[in-house]
Amino acid sequence: MTGSDDLRSLDARHVWHPFTQARTAPPPIPIRQGRGSRLIAEDGREFVDLVSSWWVTLHGHAEPAIAQAIASQAARLEQVMFAGFTHEPAVRLAARLTALLPAPLTRVFYSDDGSTSVEVALKLALQYWRNLGQPRHRMLAFEGGYHGDTFGAMAVGRSSGFYTPFQDKLFAVDFIPFPATWIDDPDVAATEARSLAALDRWLADHGSEAAAFIAEPLVQGAAGMRMCRPAFLQEAAKRARAAGLLVIFDEVMTGFGRTGTNFACDAAGIAPDLICLSKGLTGGFLPLAATVCTDQIHDAFLDAGFEKAFAHGHSYTANPLGCAAALASLDLLEAPETATRIRRIGAAHAAGLSQLSNCAALTRRRQTGTIAAVTLPATDAGYSAAIGPRAAGYFLERGLLVRPIGNELYFLPPYCVTDEEIAAAYRTAADFARTLR
Ligand code: PMP
Repeated sequence: MTGSDDLRSLDARHVWHPFTQARTAPPPIPIRQGRGSRLIAEDGREFVDLVSSWWVTLHGHAEPAIAQAIASQAARLEQVMFAGFTHEPAVRLAARLTALLPAPLTRVFYSDDGSTSVEVALKLALQYWRNLGQPRHRMLAFEGGYHGDTFGAMAVGRSSGFYTPFQDKLFAVDFIPFPATWIDDPDVAATEARSLAALDRWLADHGSEAAAFIAEPLVQGAAGMRMCRPAFLQEAAKRARAAGLLVIFDEVMTGFGRTGTNFACDAAGIAPDLICLSKGLTGGFLPLAATVCTDQIHDAFLDAGFEKAFAHGHSYTANPLGCAAALASLDLLEAPETATRIRRIGAAHAAGLSQLSNCAALTRRRQTGTIAAVTLPATDAGYSAAIGPRAAGYFLERGLLVRPIGNELYFLPPYCVTDEEIAAAYRTAADFARTLR
């Protein structure tokens, strides 16, 4: 067995961690085991995972039903190339997903992670119009949206501010304001009206040459859990579609119950033309993604020759282990207990946020389903706000794992989290706020 110290020194010598400034970040914590809502460190400390490990862990860590499904699939068929071959887990998963999604979404294209699911959606949208012989090539997105770290995803997420070194290499995308709102926001109607007016202006100028409109529905995750009202999203998507654009919803984070309904598009009452799914798709066990689209899009790629085909694929496209994990996760998602858990988390957030209304330091309290957030005070607001790591350290000392996005503190727990664990999160937020006086 490698001891905790060996792990740390080997890690420091050989490993490069994501989204980390290694010079200033505290050393990573070696984790030995996951169990339900908890992560257990090599040194025995336990942390309640209040961020679902970057929003992937859906039911709980090391969920036995999913672990078992992966093990039995691995003993049967671990991988087969997906061009020219197919297999039961991928076919069954496609059928299950399309049954769960709004009716027009019927065709599943598998890839590996959130970013690749977005690349696939963007490429499908662009090639769709090309295959139809129509000159639609422009893209529209919301300011602040984040869609992943590959080049296409960076282009549609460029306003998130993460991609300065690559700005001049990103293809052109236009952005309209996202009407972020919160509990008791007095200006929400005016903010939404400004955003819709900007959309109308853009559509009037460029609608006829636009391929697609991409959005994270209801909640912009990496922008700091910025939330909008469902009716606004419905209206924006309707107007974009009326101008002929394909509507792409990136539900990489919001999918599989996080926003209170199976998908955020259900709450918004609008079926997109393309939807991107990953993260919770496998319950958080394995990297797998799906871009699901309509028959109308799929059929535009059919032709006698190869030219109109979608020449895109990954080595692990539709990996059987990932598909088996996803099927087991869907079984759990569709069990009545999960709906109860999701409702219970929503109620616990609402109660916790209401208690925080006394903490003047914590502003912009907001919630969508199982996702809740508050804004911490900061003079250096933004991704590198110093208060984020300070809050994370404070929570960690109390056995709670959070990872604020800059000065935005949020809770997005796996569904097995208990009411007591959520209550502890809000108590700790209130205690932390008191240290700020
Ligand atoms: N889209 C959204 C909405 C996301 O939140 C993320 C990841 N945080 C991605 C895409 C990219 O996913 P991945 O990190 O799996 O590539």
